[in-house]
Amino acid sequence: MTQDFQPGREMSNEVDAKTARERAKAIAEQRRAERRNRKRKCVVCSVEESDKTPLTAHPEGIGPACKDEVTCLSRKAASGR
Ligand SMILES: [Zn+2]
Repeated sequence: MTQDFQPGREMSNEVDAKTARERAKAIAEQRRAERRNRKRKCVVCSVEESDKTPLTAHPEGIGPACKDEVTCLSRKAASGR
């Protein structure tokens, strides 16, 4: 029985494709993580997003804004802007 096809080569091609896919996936995941880690700031009072000051999309679509509007507005007033 002769083996014209090269099973080893086939396998390595498969591995390469898999590796490339895994790498692309890893990069995509990394970018997603970076985006998640990047600090967003409230467009109204410019406080950084944190557990204490969760941000949400501003109702007018101008960007991220504090979920707690009352605290946000008082913070804005306190910062004098
Ligand atoms: Zn705010």
